[in-house]
Amino acid sequence: MAATLILIELDSGKVKRASLNAITLAQQLGGDYALLLLGTDLEEVTASLTGYGASAVIAAEDAALAEPTADRYAAVIVEALKKASANTLLASSSTFSKDILPRTAALFDAPMLTDVLGIEGPAFRRPINAGSDLALVQLEGDRRVLTARATAFSAPSAVAEKSPIEKLDVTALSLPNDTEFISREERKSDRPDLGEARVVVAGGRPLKDTETFERLVGGLADVLGGAIGATRAAVDSGMVPNDYQIGQTGKIIAPELYIGLGISGAIQHLAGIKDSRVIVAINKDADAPIFQMATYGLVGDLHELVPQLIESLREV
Ligand code: FAD
Repeated sequence: MAATLILIELDSGKVKRASLNAITLAQQLGGDYALLLLGTDLEEVTASLTGYGASAVIAAEDAALAEPTADRYAAVIVEALKKASANTLLASSSTFSKDILPRTAALFDAPMLTDVLGIEGPAFRRPINAGSDLALVQLEGDRRVLTARATAFSAPSAVAEKSPIEKLDVTALSLPNDTEFISREERKSDRPDLGEARVVVAGGRPLKDTETFERLVGGLADVLGGAIGATRAAVDSGMVPNDYQIGQTGKIIAPELYIGLGISGAIQHLAGIKDSRVIVAINKDADAPIFQMATYGLVGDLHELVPQLIESLREV
């Protein structure tokens, strides 16, 4: 029996590191918590999760769960909640949880609160208005489905005692079959993942085309061992694919170093970077709003400054 069930996200069979931060929220909520994984070939990955203080690591393994289709996953998660007698379902905020958990919450007949940043007494703190305001929200009833913003919680520390592994038998469940998985498009890159990188270099509208974006944003990212990101303006103009978008409708990041090249600092973009430790901005307009949030700012033309910066960093 566990008070909280935490859905762990997998990517190509590996644990998404950010999804572990939901464990820290569960620890702050108090009570026992169990971890739940869905997919195929889970043996190794399940064993890798036994050191986080969970009352159990539950594996739901079945060919029908090879791909995360919301209808099947939701049905299995609700079954796991019932078996574990858990009232709270937790996951980290991500595209995966945005897809799976609303359906789960409806089936579980529980209210859902996304992007939790912290707990204040009986209420949860979460961003509203693109992160420019914070709301305190109190949920009614004893059931709840929450997603934790991974950048607001630290990674859980490992404990010596091992959690038991349990299997959730899904063969007896009649899983919905209304959604068909067609294909997955994956972009292979040698650069780190945008959501997990320690350094992120992002580019905006004045990068103009894919080639210039790659040469300047990609070039600077590569000398720093960083990931690349973009504004919605850069994505909309077709310079980069939309999984590079940072912000309110893109990825929320909190790297140690964020460098924005030719980015005005619209509120929707800043919502995605404001937890970064150091923010550096290069913009030719000294009044650009991004300078109000930047730790260091450089006023000038990025087409002149960035090649010089890349050259100097190469010599270091
Ligand atoms: P611009 O605002 O055009 O700014 C370009 C900047 O580059 C300017 O400050 C300019 O001074 C500078 N510049 C120009 N030339 C040079 C040069 N040669 N050298 C140096 N600097 C130069 N945006 C996001 O990024 N992420 C989101 O998730 C997002 N979600 C949105 C959701 C909604 C509902 C809405 C309405 C908007 C959203 N937007 C989002 C869009 C956002 O409002 C801005 O339009 C966008 O962020 C602007 O992108 P930008 O900074 O690249 O372009």
